[in-house]
Amino acid sequence: MAAALPPTDALVVGGGPAGVSLAAELAARGLSVRLVAPHPPRPFPPTYGAWLDELPDWARATLADVWTDVRAYTSDRPTPLLRAYALFDNIRLLNTLLARGGGGLTWTVGRVRGAVRGGEGWEVCGACGETWRAHVLLDAGGHAGSLTRPRHPGGAALQTAFGIVGYFDRPPAAPGGMVWMDHRPPCPGVRGPPTFLYAMHLGDDRYLVEETSLIARPALSRRALQERLHARLSAQGTPPHDIEREEWVAFPMNAAAPQPGAVLAFGSAAGLVHPVSGFQVAGALHDAPRVAEAVAVALARRGPVAATQAGWAALWPPERRAAREVALLGVQALLTLPGKQLPAFFDTFFHLPPAQWRAFLSPHTEAGTLARTMLRLFAHVPLAVRVALVRAAFAEPGASLRALHRAAQFPRTSGTDGE
Ligand SMILES: Cc1cc2nc3c(=O)[nH]c(=O)nc-3n(C[C@H](O)[C@H](O)[C@H](O)COP(=O)(O)OP(=O)(O)OC[C@H]3O[C@@H](n4cnc5c(N)ncnc54)[C@H](O)[C@@H]3O)c2cc1C
Repeated sequence: MAAALPPTDALVVGGGPAGVSLAAELAARGLSVRLVAPHPPRPFPPTYGAWLDELPDWARATLADVWTDVRAYTSDRPTPLLRAYALFDNIRLLNTLLARGGGGLTWTVGRVRGAVRGGEGWEVCGACGETWRAHVLLDAGGHAGSLTRPRHPGGAALQTAFGIVGYFDRPPAAPGGMVWMDHRPPCPGVRGPPTFLYAMHLGDDRYLVEETSLIARPALSRRALQERLHARLSAQGTPPHDIEREEWVAFPMNAAAPQPGAVLAFGSAAGLVHPVSGFQVAGALHDAPRVAEAVAVALARRGPVAATQAGWAALWPPERRAAREVALLGVQALLTLPGKQLPAFFDTFFHLPPAQWRAFLSPHTEAGTLARTMLRLFAHVPLAVRVALVRAAFAEPGASLRALHRAAQFPRTSGTDGE
């Protein structure tokens, strides 16, 4: 019989960007860390992008490309967003994260099936009968979680997208640029929920083009989005002559802030996907050092239970929980808004002072700023959109009032209002 492995200080479930960044930051603070994932270290499969100014400085070395020509279309005239957008090189991102962990990180291939508390820590069971012991247990198992379960009020509302990396005779989007959102209809006579094009020029005749449903319940299917993408490209007269790969995107956007528990959830398992943009990676890179520091200090001084609590408190301070409630109001508005009004909504959104719309999309903006931006948006949108937003607020008056009351407790603490 194989001898039981000695316990590690921490076991992190999941080898996505959240799990690797947290495991590495814990290891960098001298903890022994086991990361368990069903696959060996490998470049993260999805295409990951982020606003350049939301990345920690060290992460700039992990980028494949940066665009300064970044646009949104709500009509034929583009709105320049005047904000640089970055694409990760996922091999570099993985290797940089692992290097930050130094030697204290062990990557174990396996699938976690369950965990039981034993003595001063956990016995974690693998699907093939393995047992790993650890003092602190962290779940970065992705959108469904592995040992924790994110909660989605009213049911999960999904962002879905179908994309291709392909080669084109004629540019399907701005050459040399990045299109964050093109809300022009994909082709004449299109019916059903709204979608937009997300596109980037990858050099020469190579582009990523993705037909995206920002958020919907029920979600748009892969097939519907694939058909729309190709209809859009044909209607523009820019079909691809070769397709390098396809990408399917599907994840929930409306997770509530989790309650503290015995296992610390991180990344999308903790509902940290931004409820309006769907972004998460840049936020995880920022949060991981702070959470790891809180866990490491509390583990050394007060033991595993306190370490888990300290990690949770670092991740979900009261102002962030309040901000999540306000952001979920924004989600409710987007879900309720009739599709034909979305372009007008985003037109107003991107014509707010830049600091305001940027703050609204940031993972770390306080609730008061979010609420004020929403009120400003409300004041400036066309009347039909305003009426729809009022309906959204009244759909759940209790939640709306609670969120605004909480927002009032966290007035602006930084210069993010753009005033
Ligand atoms: C195609 C796509 C594109 C996206 N693009 C962006 C983007 O451009 N920018 C952005 O910020 N966000 C983007 N997102 C949203 C989000 O950031 C990603 O979903 C991101 O991958 C979430 O990171 P994560 O580490 O939390 O989870 P994941 O990347 O999902 O990683 C979960 C890990 O847990 C492992 N796992 C699951 N269950 C178990 C188990 N029981 N035992 C052991 N291991 C387990 C999985 O194998 C995996 O290694 C995108 C999402 C998708 C799907």
